[in-house]
Amino acid sequence: MTHRICLLPGDGIGPEVIECAEHVLCVLPLDLEFIRADIGFGAYERLGTPLPDATLEEIRLSSAALFGAVTTPPNLAGYFSPVVRMRQSLELYANLRPCQSIPHSSSRPDINLIIVRENTEGLYSGIERLEDDGNRAITERVITRKGSERILRKAFDIAKQRERKTVHVIHKANVLRQTCGLFRSVALEIAKEYPDITIDEMLVDTCAMELVRAPEQFDVIVTTNLFGDILSDEACMFVGGLGVAASGNIGANVAVFEPVHGSAPTIVGTGKANPIATFLATAMMLDYLNEVESAERLRNVVNNCIANNESTPDLGGSLTTSQVAERVIQRIEETLKVSKTFRV
Ligand code: NAD
Repeated sequence: MTHRICLLPGDGIGPEVIECAEHVLCVLPLDLEFIRADIGFGAYERLGTPLPDATLEEIRLSSAALFGAVTTPPNLAGYFSPVVRMRQSLELYANLRPCQSIPHSSSRPDINLIIVRENTEGLYSGIERLEDDGNRAITERVITRKGSERILRKAFDIAKQRERKTVHVIHKANVLRQTCGLFRSVALEIAKEYPDITIDEMLVDTCAMELVRAPEQFDVIVTTNLFGDILSDEACMFVGGLGVAASGNIGANVAVFEPVHGSAPTIVGTGKANPIATFLATAMMLDYLNEVESAERLRNVVNNCIANNESTPDLGGSLTTSQVAERVIQRIEETLKVSKTFRV
């Protein structure tokens, strides 16, 4: 089956890491067709919008999309975050952030958790206003039953497929009594549908602390938008940091995978951008496309490279972005040769 992959390189180091991922995908035994679409500040300068409608349409028409990163200028009137807009327009309601120990000295051992973050509502509702001549700023935090149900079901479904089958529901219902109160009560209802899953609840501040103290205690964490954004950045620092952190944005029939990092403007063109986060996002995309063997092959090869110090300077290595990609490609080709020999 041919998978149509929409590549969204974006700005800064985005195009560098997406090009590497495309080369890697091309050596895997897969039937793929690539198209490219515009997103980000460069798109805004060329086309007058950071997220053209044509891009949304290309993503909808594709089996999955792979996104690099964008630069978001802080003070440009009328500019909007194309990432937040893309997630909302395509109803990519689940943001998945796996955090797994890597074979590297900067990584803590025995961590294997996934953060399932609501991606379309909460404090990122986009409903903001200024009152009192600009002296009072208000953002509305929107939590809906529908939004809560679908993210909680996603978390429980993921937990069902994992060994430990535990879900931590993270909220602040003692203070945010209405919004977190609704999220929490929906969680307790949904939990009844999953008798084999252990449910635990934790306040978000306690969770932030427990993640630092003992991250290995967590299996699946599910939470609202802003809490998930912060906790997932915190968690990725225990397992190698931004250069290896990957995520997926999942909707009903659409999915966009991306490295967690931004456009890293200070290292553009230096060869210092670690492409591994994008490779791990690519592996998540392959799982989503049911190409599980290729996903596993890519993850194993990436871990072998990390273990052998074949990495960029952020992980202590001395290779450039494209040299890391070359090593990954070489190792994939070697594993493919070996598996062919075994088949003969
Ligand atoms: P950033 O993630 O771009 O960079 C943070 C730090 O990590 C920098 O020191 C950078 O050099 C380093 N870094 C990032 N990715 C790396 C990689 N692959 N390999 C090695 N080092 C890496 O965050 P920032 O500097 O706060 O933001 C820069 C721009 O990116 C801003 O315009 C911001 O709005 C945007 N941003 C975009 C996204 C996205 O596209 N999803 C996410 C975060 C930030």
